[in-house]
Amino acid sequence: MDSVEVAAAPDAGPGPAWQSKCPWGAHNTTSMSCSLADVMSEQLAKELQLEEENAAFPEVVAVAEGPFITGENIDTSSDLMLAQMLQMEFDREYDAQLRREEKKINGDSKVSISFENYRKVHPYDSDSSEDEVDWQDTRHDPYRADKPTTTPRKGFIGKGKDITTKHDEVVCGRKNTARMENFAPEFQVGDGIGMDLKLSNQVFNALKQHAYSEERRSARLHEKKEHSTAEKAVDPKTRLLMYKMVNSGMLETITGCISTGKESVVFHAYGGNATEDKVIPPECAIKVFKTTLNEFKNRDKYIKDDYRFKDRFSKLNPRKIIRMWAEKEMHNLTRMQNAGIPCPQVVILKKHVLVMSFIGQDQAPAPKLKDVTLNSEDMKKAYYQVLNMMQQLYKECNLVHADLSEYNMLWHDGKVWLIDVSQSVEPTHPHGLEFLFRDCRNVAQFFQKAGVAEALNERELFNAVSGLNITADNEVDFQAEIEALEKMNEDHVQNHGKKLSVFSGDGDPPIYAE
Ligand code: ADP
Ligand code: MN
Repeated sequence: MDSVEVAAAPDAGPGPAWQSKCPWGAHNTTSMSCSLADVMSEQLAKELQLEEENAAFPEVVAVAEGPFITGENIDTSSDLMLAQMLQMEFDREYDAQLRREEKKINGDSKVSISFENYRKVHPYDSDSSEDEVDWQDTRHDPYRADKPTTTPRKGFIGKGKDITTKHDEVVCGRKNTARMENFAPEFQVGDGIGMDLKLSNQVFNALKQHAYSEERRSARLHEKKEHSTAEKAVDPKTRLLMYKMVNSGMLETITGCISTGKESVVFHAYGGNATEDKVIPPECAIKVFKTTLNEFKNRDKYIKDDYRFKDRFSKLNPRKIIRMWAEKEMHNLTRMQNAGIPCPQVVILKKHVLVMSFIGQDQAPAPKLKDVTLNSEDMKKAYYQVLNMMQQLYKECNLVHADLSEYNMLWHDGKVWLIDVSQSVEPTHPHGLEFLFRDCRNVAQFFQKAGVAEALNERELFNAVSGLNITADNEVDFQAEIEALEKMNEDHVQNHGKKLSVFSGDGDPPIYAE
């Protein structure tokens, strides 16, 4: 909290101005005392993250407020609009001429000269040829059939020499004017619609062509802006890594960011072409583990004591540790997939970028259990499913989720899906049982609050999942017994160099191999 205050201080100024910029209003400066559970809470993490990002990227806001001409804020003065249209048209013609000259000079020569640097329209925002589609040929013809009544259905009216065909100049001109109405709302057409204005086909076609390509252009500009805001959280190397995935055809498009968390940014993407050994899901989620923040230090204890990563931990630099998180999530998801637990399917892991199947549809991620309203029957169903999954996770995957709550469970296709397993550990992890108990507390509290009468309390749930039989009837004693068990296991590791199978209720030794 303090760091936020300090970061905001220089431009804080007098209260109101600063407050109007901060979406949370004035900060509460009183220091708060909070429990470990609060500190670990995802909600708190998200809030802190937002504050941090606002302090770190003030320019994002500045860009959004700036006088840039984008889809939404095209100037209403039509003179300016006209001037810009003409300028753009000129630029494009100029470039076309440049290309012709370039071609003429280079001819068939093996060595060629590029005029690229002299172009007016920079390649990235130039219109690609796909934009010059004939408007009439597109499926989304904005001409509404019921509106203009000037044209008879058969294309002509009248008799003898008074026949008026659909090609009649006056009729056509009026019709064209009426059609202008159908241009995108931000496209300024003046008030010609109200007058008896007759637009010649030539003028109308030029206009509609322009309106259409402007619409596309501004949509693209908007997309680019959105993207760049979200990508602020992603460093250039990561961006390159993501672009490569698109370039290689593995992904078709990365549509945008769906979540910015403390340790990761999640993007939505449409899957691309399958390779020989891989089928790419139609929609993917790309989880980028942040390499910039040192928040990961807080989570050292998850990975440091995970024997699967023990040998490697001490020798690694922070960048590699972050890759290990991604790797851990991949391995854990694979285990879950093998056990048939509903969870994202791993597509590919590249460094700290994990691509998995998208839980949701049409770019809309499935809602978190905390956000969805379920009827009591579905809620009960969800509860039993979660109980089942926790048991499977423990027994079949030999894992404890370690961040299980209504924030990391999605409701999709009439069932619960588990996500966010980068921090999951094996039960014999030195704090594994404590993590499990915390998971049980979250789950029990959530379903009890949601009115599921059958929901076990946190201690019963812990025993049901772990197969242990801890009899303490209060939280403190229960916790103490858990810690004693963990200690016993650690002592055993010290003395014998291997894990004890005390945790496995039915006598099966935990699985050590990946
Ligand atoms: P963290 O909480 O560590 O930031 P998560 O893995 O929980 O990372 O992802 C953050 C959010 O992104 C999730 O709450 C969920 O809304 C969304 N999300 C993550 N993975 C997927 C996925 N495979 N499909 C759909 N949405 C996802
Ligand atoms: Mn999460």
